[in-house]
Amino acid sequence: MTTSQEQLRSLALSRFSVDYDPNAVLIVFYENAVVLKAGPDVAGAGIAAETRSPEALLWNFPELEDVASCVSALIPIDAGLGSDNALYAALLESWPSALPKTQAIPTRQFLFERGFEAFSIVGRASQWINWYRSHRYCGTCGSQNMVQGSGALLRCQACEIDYYPRINPCIIVLVTDKDKVLLARSSRRGATFFSCLAGFIEPGETAEEAVAREVYEEAGIQVTNIRYVKSQPWPFPSQLMLGYYADYAGGDLNPCPEELAEAGWFDVGALPSIPAPSISVAGQLIEDYCRWAINKNLNATRES
Ligand SMILES: [Zn+2]
Repeated sequence: MTTSQEQLRSLALSRFSVDYDPNAVLIVFYENAVVLKAGPDVAGAGIAAETRSPEALLWNFPELEDVASCVSALIPIDAGLGSDNALYAALLESWPSALPKTQAIPTRQFLFERGFEAFSIVGRASQWINWYRSHRYCGTCGSQNMVQGSGALLRCQACEIDYYPRINPCIIVLVTDKDKVLLARSSRRGATFFSCLAGFIEPGETAEEAVAREVYEEAGIQVTNIRYVKSQPWPFPSQLMLGYYADYAGGDLNPCPEELAEAGWFDVGALPSIPAPSISVAGQLIEDYCRWAINKNLNATRES
């Protein structure tokens, strides 16, 4: 066995209590980027064609041997239903000299270039890595935490407090008023498109209360008939977006300048630039509602 094989095996077995499984697949991260395997010439900007295949994303243990000395975490993660192979998220603590740096693609860029379906497994793995990176030490006593058992748990070795992966629930809501939808452009730098209103659920709130509060705080209006539609994990770093529709109930639109650069009511047939439905639940909420409203109007015209 080579030294790097031994390093990986000891890393897998002792430091992270996981099996060295030659059939396992690994997704490798460095800081906030996913590391792709090299193509013949990986372009600096964007993801080169050679690295677009699933094979470029999924590493195995032997392929990590050259970079084993840089691996600081191996976390077994639940690959979801229907997966044949064990899945691990691996973290490179430093960048290995054996790899060209262009192989690291920021996770957000990966999502925007490939769409949410291709991204979902990367997003899943990145949340485990983000959790590990932000919980290496115990918040109570400051001792080092270690991955336990199947990986879904970090335990303080000194005071035995357990830390589970943290998910931050958020609401995202499309407010509608018959043939109009409320869309807003964020005051965050670089926000060019219009989208739904969104915000974190606060301690003690129901998701529906958070919808009503966020809409009032950000736009100054009241809503009613708040109904859940669908959800989406949003791993930047660990949100779960709960998507809602809500009907306008009253009040004058008064966008909060700290949150929104602009907001307005848009006709369902004349939308501004919105997020792609293939990427975010916001795009799906907007597209689905507008399509439904337009079809409803067409049918009403035909019947009259
Ligand atoms: Zn502790």
